[in-house]
Parts: sequence; structure tokens; C-alpha cells
Amino acid sequence: MSKLRFHAIKESLAIKPVQVEENVRRSEIFGKNVFNENTMRQYLTKDAFNGVMSAVSHGKKIDRSIADQVSSSMKDWALSKGVTHYTHWFQPLTGTTAEKHDAFFETIEGGMAIERFGGDQLVQQEPDASSFPSGGIRNTFEARGYTAWDPTSPAFIYGTTLCIPTIFIAYTGEALDYKTPLLRALHAVDNAATAVCRYFDKNVKKVTSSLGWEQEYFLVDKMLAASRPDIILTGRTLLGHSSAKGQQLDDHYFGAIPTRAFNFMRELETECMLLGIPVKTRHNEVAPNQFELAPIFEEANLAVDHNSLLMDIMGRVASRHNFKVLFHEKPFAGMNGSGKHNNWSLSTDTGVNLLAPGKTPMSNLQFLTFFINTIKAVRENEELLRAAIASASNDHRLGANEAPPAIISVFIGEQLTKVLEELEGVTKGKLSPQEKTELKLNVVGKIPDVLLDNTDRNRTSPFAFTGNKFEFRAVGSIANCGNPMTVLNTIVAKQLKDFKVEVDALIDKKDLKKDEAVFNVLREYIKSSRDILFEGNGYGEAWELEAKKRGLSNNKTTPEALKAKISEKSIALFEDMQVMSKIESEARYEIEMEAYCMHIQIEGRVLGDIARNHIVPTAVKYQNILIENVKGLKEIFEEKFRSVSKEQINLIEEISSHIEGINSNVTKMINARRKANAIDDIEKKAMSYCNKVKPLFDDIRYHCDKLELLVDDDILPLTKYRELLFTR
Ligand code: ADP
Ligand code: MG
Repeated sequence: MSKLRFHAIKESLAIKPVQVEENVRRSEIFGKNVFNENTMRQYLTKDAFNGVMSAVSHGKKIDRSIADQVSSSMKDWALSKGVTHYTHWFQPLTGTTAEKHDAFFETIEGGMAIERFGGDQLVQQEPDASSFPSGGIRNTFEARGYTAWDPTSPAFIYGTTLCIPTIFIAYTGEALDYKTPLLRALHAVDNAATAVCRYFDKNVKKVTSSLGWEQEYFLVDKMLAASRPDIILTGRTLLGHSSAKGQQLDDHYFGAIPTRAFNFMRELETECMLLGIPVKTRHNEVAPNQFELAPIFEEANLAVDHNSLLMDIMGRVASRHNFKVLFHEKPFAGMNGSGKHNNWSLSTDTGVNLLAPGKTPMSNLQFLTFFINTIKAVRENEELLRAAIASASNDHRLGANEAPPAIISVFIGEQLTKVLEELEGVTKGKLSPQEKTELKLNVVGKIPDVLLDNTDRNRTSPFAFTGNKFEFRAVGSIANCGNPMTVLNTIVAKQLKDFKVEVDALIDKKDLKKDEAVFNVLREYIKSSRDILFEGNGYGEAWELEAKKRGLSNNKTTPEALKAKISEKSIALFEDMQVMSKIESEARYEIEMEAYCMHIQIEGRVLGDIARNHIVPTAVKYQNILIENVKGLKEIFEEKFRSVSKEQINLIEEISSHIEGINSNVTKMINARRKANAIDDIEKKAMSYCNKVKPLFDDIRYHCDKLELLVDDDILPLTKYRELLFTR
């Protein structure tokens, strides 16, 4: 094994940056491999084009003859680009993307063949996908799941395959993927937000939710990663002593990007351009070998697809550049973890960002309406929002020693805090003309269109308002954005729907003017949401105590956090907004709890194996060297023997005690796993993995890392942190 380590280091030192050609203008290749509006205009008949566009904009059904035309044009376009296969591309609840390729090729009479792709093949497929998680929705004998075309996300070509974004549902209609509930949530928020917009502008017909994600990741040399079974099997290091130099000098953050990584990024960006993923920024992050990439924001469904696609492409491009890309939230202990900030806002078909302050008092009142309703939605559903980002890997950030915390709070900045304070003082019921003028001039009229303090400098807030959007920062770097985006859009939809009912009631029953009614409802919302607002440092015990007083949840682990998904309130919310049925909510809970158990189980097995089969034998080997040494010293020195061999003897003892520490804790862990596995109840099982199995990881690691510092570097089998993180 140590041979592998040194072989890997040698290989990795010899790797040269892979040259990439880049003589094309990005704007020229952007979207070249996408069957987008522009391409459709060229390839589709007018009827077909209009059919697809009205499906995209208004959710209209596409009829069969149109589907036939679209599929045939799609095929012509794809064939002209050298494509041979097509696939329905979907996002099952495994967290990755799935595809099953079929050739266009079909045989016909007379030993001939043609390329065929009909409307039926475009619209619906029945992949034999019975092994994807369904949370018990499909019995295995009724295992059929269908994929169905999502025309709101354009088809694209990757390699020689035409990929058609699809939803994945059970035979009985239940969602088995991330996209289906997301589309329903986006529909719900469109309806609710459009209705509210109409208080301010009757021309609004549609509200779109937008998402701009920022993807953090690590690059590790492919050879070095391959020398670590923990990285290969779990995506993170399960042990390893921290490097003498880590991130303490902050010399990697925004520093010059190393050439190999830079070339990887350039090729990645070219691929993204071809696929119409509008990546714009790239930079080094805090930890060594950590980077970030962000696109221009897009409509949320498309942005979610693009993020999934990007993660997939990143893996492939990284491999060509001899890297392994790590999306795990905490690949290295003691280093910054990775997240995926989800920048979110709502905008109208009239071109207004509803979360950006406007130029007139009326547009600012609209802004405040959406701003305050979002805060209220988060206040009412903080626990569900926490559940939406829960996973075994994200537990290493949330609630562990890293910002953001597991407590959901909202940062809004000093200026807006003042505005809310003023609004809280608005008179109940009818407003005097003076008060109205005063409000319009000095409160609503005074929101500057540039909010100076809109950046949360300490960056510890999990949900921060940043000038013209909210930034949900607690999302995990490996997560599919579909889950948090479904929850966020659903809770906001529900909130806006309730808001409309309350405002209408005041107008109808209390005879208030529209703006008076809006002010009245917002005032009450500010009061009831105050507890979720927090501007301070969200990292540490002081905030935990404060949050507890305020009644905010602090679910530090996934099994605790996930429970909120199946509370009566959450189930009713999803049903009410027609985003998920009770069965769907419960199935997801089950799937995620299962996934949690399996994650910890796999990590436990890998850690046990490395500790016992790699670390302990190495320690014994080194201990034997020391024993030989002591024996020799004894032979040479007679009286002086004790003093010259003192350190060696201490080391021998120390090694023994660490070996004992490893063996006893691995045994404990195996027993704990055995007990956990015997539990049928999924909640109890997950809790058992969380509280009985996982804590032993730290004890085992402690002894392994100590041994790493003691034993001869020459025989240590596992590639060290400094080698993983600083080799170029
Ligand atoms: P950071 O959070 O690192 O300071 P930025 O402010 O540059 O980074 O992040 C901006 C991100 O927010 C980008 O991905 C951008 O596309 C996205 N964004 C900007 N405006 C909106 C909006 N109205 N809706 C959603 N996302 C947006
Ligand atoms: Mg950000």
C-alpha cells in the first residue's frame, strides 16, 4: 500500500498541465449544442414552434401531432451534429443524474436501416428503472416508472447523445425525482405571486422564480485520490492529520489560479458554453485546492438542471485533466467545507425583480410586500427549510464547527432593519392622509435603490438578503438544488396566498384602501417574524442560546432535521399547494433517512477497514523496528541502556496504546452497527447510526491521526493531507 502512495506522488509530480485550445469567442459557441428557442425557430414549423413556446410559457399541453413534428426536427438537428443516440435525462432521488441511451437506428424491411425518433419516444419512456429509490411507492412487481418530457428545459447534446430533460414518475403518478415537485412548486409560486402582483400592476401575467447557484468544490490529483480508499468510496477523507500549513495564511483565497486547475476551468467553461450554461465567475476559495464557479442566474428549473449537468460534466472534464473533483461538503477536516449558495428571487413577465427596491413608493411597497412575505415564510417554516438541506455530508457543516449554523435565520442589513422598524409602527386600521404621505415619502419612498450594507460581511447567515435577492447559503455543495428550491418556492407560495386572503379580507370587510390593507398586514407580519431576523455572528454558543429563547429550532443532525418533512404541518402545506401528496412526502422522508443510514454505514466500514488493515499493521511494523532498535541498544550499552532507549520505549508504549484505542473502538463500532442494522423502524435506526455509530468515528480517527505523526513516513500507506492538498 505504501508503494501505492509513493507511486501516486511520483506520478502526480510528473503530470503536466493539459493544454486547452481556446480561440473561439464564448458568445459564438454559447448554446450551440442546445435545442433552444433560436434553434427551434430554424428547425420547427410555425405550429410546432408555437406549441412548444406556449408549453414553456403557459404550461399548455403539447398535442401528439406537434410532438411528432418536434421529435423529427430534433432528430434532424441532432443527426446534423453527429449524434447517434438519444436519452431521457432525469434526476432520480439518488442525487445524481440518470440516463439510458437508445440509438436512433432502426432496421426496416429488406435488410435496411433508418434513423427514427418519433413523438412517442420524445414524450414518454419506460426505462426499466426499478432500482431507483422510491420510498416504497412502487412495489417491485409494479416497478414501472415513466419518464416524461419537460419542454421547459431544452434538449441538449452531450458527446454523441441527444439528452431530453424529463420528469420521472411512478405508474400511479407519484413523483420519483427532484424535478416533478419543483415544477409543481414553481407553478404554485407563479400563481400566488402573480395574484399579489396584481395589487400593484394589472399587467402582470406570470411570475418566474430565478436561481443563481454558486458551486464550491475541491480538486485533488486523480492519482493521489486513487491512493485513498476513503476518498474513492466516500468522497471525503475519513482520517488524516492536518497539514502543518493549511489555510491559515489565507494565501489561496482569490489567489492566482494554478495552471493545471486553470486549464481545467477553461475547458469546463467551453463545455458549459456549448451547453448553454452561462458560467461567469471562477476563483480560488479559502482552502487550498478549493474553488468556486458561478453562472448568471436563470429560471429556477433550468438552473437546477444546469447545476446537475454541470456537476456531471465537471467530473468528466476533471478526469481529462488528471483531477478528481470533490463535491463533498467536508472533504478535509480542519479545512473550510464547501457549499452551494442558492441565490433566489422572483421576477415578473413585465421585467420587474420583485426583490429589488424600485424607484417609486408604489414599487417599493411591492418590493416590501415580497421581501416581508419571504421573511415570514421562512419564520413559519424554518424547520422545514432546515430539513431541505439535511444530509449526512452537510451535517459536517451545519451544526458542526462551521458556518452557517443549523439554526435558520435571516440577515437583512441595517438599512432594511430600520425600514421594518418604522413599518411596525404603522397605525392599525385606516391611515390618516398625513400618515400615508409620511409613509410614502419617508419610509417606503426612502429605500435607496442601492442598498449599501446589503452584504453580510461575516457570512455566517444561512439566509441573507443581498440587495436584490435572497441567498440561501446553507445548501450543501453536493446537493441537488431541486429539493431546497422546491421547499423555498412552496413556502413562499403558501405565504403569498395567505397574504392575499388577509389583505382582501381587510379591503372587503374593514373597508380599507388597498395600500392601507397591505400596510396593516405587513405590520403584523413584521411583528410575528421578528424572531427570525438576526444580524450577528451566527457561529457559536451565544447565538444558540439566543435562538433557543426565540423558539427557533436547532436540529444539528440529519435524522432530527428530517422529521420536519413529515410533520402534520409540512404534509398539509405540500398538499395544500399541490406540490406533494402525503405519500410523496412520506416516501421522500423514508428515502432520505435510508440514505443517511447507508452513508454512515459505508463510512463506518471504510474507516474500520483503513484503521485495522492499513494503519494498525503499519504501526506494528514501525513498533517492531523500534523493538529491534531497543534490543540492539541493550546489547551495546549495558548500564546506560535505560537512558539511551528511554524515548524508544516510550514510543513503543504509545504506539501500543493507540493500537489498543483503534482496535477497541473499531470493535465497538462494528457492534454498534450490528445493533443499528437490526432496527426496523427507520427513525430509530437513523438515530442509532447518528448517536451510537458515528461518534466512534472521531475516536478511531484520533488514534489513527496520532499514529500518523509517530510512524516512519516511509512506510505510511495513506497519502497525507499535505500531499493531497499541495501537490501541483
Ligand atoms: P457572492 O455571493 O460570492 O458575493 P455574487 O454576489 O457574485 O457572489 O453572487 C451572485 C450570484 O447571484 C450569481 O450566481 C448571480 O447570477 C446570482 N444572482 C444575481 N441576481 C440574481 C437574482 N435576481 N436572482 C437569482 N440569482 C441572482
Ligand atoms: Mg454567495
